[in-house]
Amino acid sequence: MVMPQPFRSWVEVSRSQIAGNFRAVREITGPGVEIAPVVKADAYRHGAVEVSRVLVNEGARWLCVGNVEEGCALREAGIGARILVMADFLPSERAALLEFGLTPVIHTLADIAELDRLAAQREQIVPYHLKIDSGMGRLGTRASASEVAAAILGNSWARLEGLMTHFASAADYSSSQTPEQIERFRSICDGVAAAGIHFDYVHLSSSIPIAYCRKDAWGTMVRPGHAIYGYVSPSRGEAPRQLLNVKPALAWKAAILAVKDIPQGWLVGYGGMYRASRPMRIAVLAAGYADGIPHRLSNRGRVIAGGKFAPIIGAVSMDLTTIDISQTPGLQPGDAVTLLGTEGGLSIDAQQMARTAGTISYGVLCGIHARVKRIYV
Ligand SMILES: *Cc1c(COP(=O)(O)O)cnc(C)c1O
Repeated sequence: MVMPQPFRSWVEVSRSQIAGNFRAVREITGPGVEIAPVVKADAYRHGAVEVSRVLVNEGARWLCVGNVEEGCALREAGIGARILVMADFLPSERAALLEFGLTPVIHTLADIAELDRLAAQREQIVPYHLKIDSGMGRLGTRASASEVAAAILGNSWARLEGLMTHFASAADYSSSQTPEQIERFRSICDGVAAAGIHFDYVHLSSSIPIAYCRKDAWGTMVRPGHAIYGYVSPSRGEAPRQLLNVKPALAWKAAILAVKDIPQGWLVGYGGMYRASRPMRIAVLAAGYADGIPHRLSNRGRVIAGGKFAPIIGAVSMDLTTIDISQTPGLQPGDAVTLLGTEGGLSIDAQQMARTAGTISYGVLCGIHARVKRIYV
C-alpha cells in the first residue's frame, strides 16, 4: 500500500545499489585497473556528495567531475579522493582548481605551458592528465607524439600523470571508429613513452567498453558513469555479450494532488490535447516538465500508479501532469505514483522513458531537476 508522502516529487537513491554497481565494475575490470567513477552533473542527479561518499567508502581513490565548481563542492563536503576535472576550465577557474587540489585534464599543448607557469608561481608540483583527441573531434589535442612529448618535457612544475582519450561510438560494433581511436591513442602513448616520459595512468573507457569487455580499451584506469547508476546503453552491430551486472539506483516518485472523474468527450490540459474517449478517472500529479518529466511524454508516456501502468494524458505542464487512473480508481490525493522505478512487479527505467520521449537515458536522468527532493535509502 502506498503511503501519503510529504513531498510533491522526490527520488529515492539506493546507496547499496550504487555500491553494488561499483563492485560490479570492479569484478569485471579486476584489481589491476583503477576505477574513477564519474560523478559529474551532481552524479547524474543522484546527488554527487552522497554518491561520492558511498564510492569512496567502497574504495574509490579517484572521482571524475565535469567542472571546477563540482570539484570544489566535493572538497567542501570533505571528500578527500583525487578528483579529475574532465570538461576543461576557464581562466577564471584556474585559481580554485589549484587551491582545492583538483587534477585538471589539459586539452591543448599551450595549456600545459600555462599550467606550468601557474604551478611555478605557487611553487607547487601540479599533476595533470592530457587528453588526446583520437577521433572524437571534441576536446583534446590532435598534435603528433613528438609535439606532445616536446610540450611535456618543456616544463618543470606541471607533471604529466595520465594520458586519456574518449570514444565517440563505443557501443557501435558495426563501426571501425573505436578500434581506430584505440590505435591512434596507443601510438601517441607509445611515442610519449619512447621519449622517456613516465606517466602513471592511461585511460580511455567510460561505461560501455567496460560492460562489453573491450579489454584493449581499459588501460590502467576506467571512467564509468552511467554504469555506476545502473545503466548500460544497448549496443549496435555484432557486440559481445554485456557482462556487467548493474541495476538502476534511483526511483522517482510524485504525489497525487487531485483525483477526479471526467465525462466522455472532456478535454484535458493545454491545447485540449487529450479528449476522453469514455468516462474516466484521472489524477493530477505534483510534477511536470520543470521537475524533469520530458514534455515529449505528453499524451504518450506512462507512469505506474497503484501497481498498474497509467497513461499520461494531455500535455505535461510545468508543475503538473495528468494521468488516467481508471484501472486503479482507489487512488487518493497524497498517494505516490512511480515515474521511474519498480512498483507492483512493473518497472519503468530511464532508457524506456527516454525511448518514448525521443531522447537518451542520460538526458532523462540529468533532467531531474534540483527541486525534486532526494532521499537516500
Ligand atoms: C561523462 C564521461 C564519462 C562517463 O561516461 P558514461 O557513459 O556515463 O560511463 C567518461 N569519460 C568522459 C570524458 C566523460 O565526459
